[in-house]
Amino acid sequence: MFSQRMERLRAQMAEQQVDVLLLSVGAELPYFCGYEAMPLPRLTMLVVPCEGDARLIVPRLEAPRVVERTGVFEVVAWDETDDPIELARSLIGSASVIAVGDRMWAGFLVDLARLLPRVEFRRASEVTSPLRSVKDAAEVESLRAAAAAADRVTVDLRSGNIELVGRTEAEVSAELGRRLLAEGHQRVNFAIVAAGENAASPHHEAGERVIKPGEVVLCDIGGTMMDADGVGYCSDITRCVHLGEPPADLVEAYDVLFEAQAAQVAASVVGNSCESVDRVGRGMIAEAGFGDNFIHRTGHGIGTEAHEDPYIVEGNTQELRPGHAFSVEPGIYIPGKWGLRLEDIVVAATDGPDNLTTTDHRLAVLDV
Ligand code: ZN
Ligand code: ZN
Repeated sequence: MFSQRMERLRAQMAEQQVDVLLLSVGAELPYFCGYEAMPLPRLTMLVVPCEGDARLIVPRLEAPRVVERTGVFEVVAWDETDDPIELARSLIGSASVIAVGDRMWAGFLVDLARLLPRVEFRRASEVTSPLRSVKDAAEVESLRAAAAAADRVTVDLRSGNIELVGRTEAEVSAELGRRLLAEGHQRVNFAIVAAGENAASPHHEAGERVIKPGEVVLCDIGGTMMDADGVGYCSDITRCVHLGEPPADLVEAYDVLFEAQAAQVAASVVGNSCESVDRVGRGMIAEAGFGDNFIHRTGHGIGTEAHEDPYIVEGNTQELRPGHAFSVEPGIYIPGKWGLRLEDIVVAATDGPDNLTTTDHRLAVLDV
């Protein structure tokens, strides 16, 4: 699998006239070679020449973590007194266009640019995104498994099996995270728990606020689940529960959101543009009078990264292709009062949208 990915990578590099590609910290390295760099100061870098063998530069003390893959890359370990940037330069050779992983520490790029003043540097994502954003069948199944695990947590949340009233947002967030791990995730990427007026802040950080009866609780959780090759695929789901009977204005807004999100999922078909999916729901939400309350894009691609291409946003004219996987997550936020969001992960497939998220989409109303 990794050798095929590297082959496609080199073809893309040739097409875009990139001589060498450098990957370090971030989701691209594990996608192409199965190894994830530790986010630490010592340099880890995969050097991929368009023609020739790829080499993985790793600190000697981290080399035992690397699963060697013959035909994909060779390991070059460096010692504490070596200069890893010099080592990288010797492997880069006489390249004139170098694509650099978007998440590589800026410090390394500054050092490299000083050593290679005539090189043109580009973002690696220009080369890697067209490959990574289109998922093959095995990747879709990995995303489906991650989505199913997150679904199980959310089903428990909706059915009242997770205590909410009287606990802090942070306590509930920690429990949602523990449950994601218990359901097979290796990593929790986020567990947003936003109660009442806090739900009007889309990326609210769960805090010490105690959850009370009579309010909405927005939960947006996601993590990373490893596939058989040790490459992690991400989950991401949002559902809202109301503690006791919800007020009429909230019910009305939720109905609008529910219909808009369903229409956007239905519009997630091959050939539609990303921006058209955004427009469908935004139009419905605006028509109901909540246009100013939907303050973010409709969604983001998902795969080995929680947020990646394609972005479902006005201005993105890219057409959906089979294997594009992304979130559909419109929201309505009323500052000072409450917020609502509804999020699924959808794959554009030849026979229509493949919604990986199966949890009930209605507002869950819990007895308190
Ligand atoms: Zn989310
Ligand atoms: Zn999301």
